[in-house]
Amino acid sequence: MANSDNGEISAWHYSSGQPVRVRWGAGVITHLEDATTAPPRDLFVAPGLFDLQINGYSGVDFQQDNLTLDDLQSATRQLRAAGCTHFLLTLITDEWSVMISRLRHVRALRSQSSELESAIAGWHIEGPFLSAEPGFHGAHDPSRMIDPTPEHIRELRSFTGDDPVLLTISPERHGAVKTIGLAVSLGMRISLGHTNASVETLHRAIQSGATGFTHLGNGCPRELDRHDNILWRVFEMPELTVSLIPDRIHVSPPLFRLMHRLLDPSVIYYTTEAMAAAGAPPGRYKMGKKEVDVGPDQIVRPPGQPLFAGSALRPVDGVFRAAQMLNRPWPETWARLSEIPAKFMGLRNELAVQQPATFCVLKVKGQNQLEDLQAYVNGMAVAPGGGSAE
Ligand SMILES: [Zn+2]
Repeated sequence: MANSDNGEISAWHYSSGQPVRVRWGAGVITHLEDATTAPPRDLFVAPGLFDLQINGYSGVDFQQDNLTLDDLQSATRQLRAAGCTHFLLTLITDEWSVMISRLRHVRALRSQSSELESAIAGWHIEGPFLSAEPGFHGAHDPSRMIDPTPEHIRELRSFTGDDPVLLTISPERHGAVKTIGLAVSLGMRISLGHTNASVETLHRAIQSGATGFTHLGNGCPRELDRHDNILWRVFEMPELTVSLIPDRIHVSPPLFRLMHRLLDPSVIYYTTEAMAAAGAPPGRYKMGKKEVDVGPDQIVRPPGQPLFAGSALRPVDGVFRAAQMLNRPWPETWARLSEIPAKFMGLRNELAVQQPATFCVLKVKGQNQLEDLQAYVNGMAVAPGGGSAE
């Protein structure tokens, strides 16, 4: 486990449950074979976590105009040190021109660093094409919500090149179904969310190419009609791959368990929707122009309001909280914050020969108690403070 870009490790493969020896050279996995001697019982190897919705981390808010390279690198390194080796940097609702200039700015920052190029797999644009209805807009500013047009979509594509883009959109907005078709034809993934769309509109969005639903159970009012509401409608749409925030707060444990019984496990993935307070102590944090309070319970709220505004959850803690809520072994939930979201974006994130030696080595006690985690990126051990990884 020397800190160079070649090495080897024997551990239990997280999904097959078999003892494996992983060898790598020049940052790439060269061998993945049966281990000849049994590794320690509590030592596992798993692909790095891949979070599709990171709004900020470790005290750094991504919703700002003048994000610095140092801050972005520091947040990225902390995420990676905590096992999240890849993510979609997420920009949330603001004036469209402001969102576009932030996107251009963070993309320019990314191009200055190979570490950022490898960690930031693409962009999640959550807003401003969302429902402005009370409850459905969540912590987004409803006065900034607008209808999407083909010009918006083309502009977004022109500033993102070939990068993976996930766009969360509310399909009941005027012109949305048509723009979904255009966005998909330009290679974007469409996730429906912050929406109160009817069954018919949801179906039309799916026919136009929408494949996801963003943080089901959130982005909707606390009180819903028991006969017909957005949750019931989505439960009957197996075409949609659904994200859930597994912090025990955004979705209550009983509802979280029910969702796993109602939906096929292959269409569920997790995201933290982490904001600046994730991986940082409780206190008051910036989220764009707003301030939010984060208590010791990790609940993130605009001061004095009952709304949730993103989470203070570290991705790795989400994996283990999900496993504990479901009373299932952690490797099942690990896949839902690593391989499954990557696949949803059309990307590979798995342990395989010829793939980057980017993975996590974990010590797990009992069924679901994480004791230790070491992330590797391109064969190098990630240190939270240092710049060893690329
Ligand atoms: Zn949201």
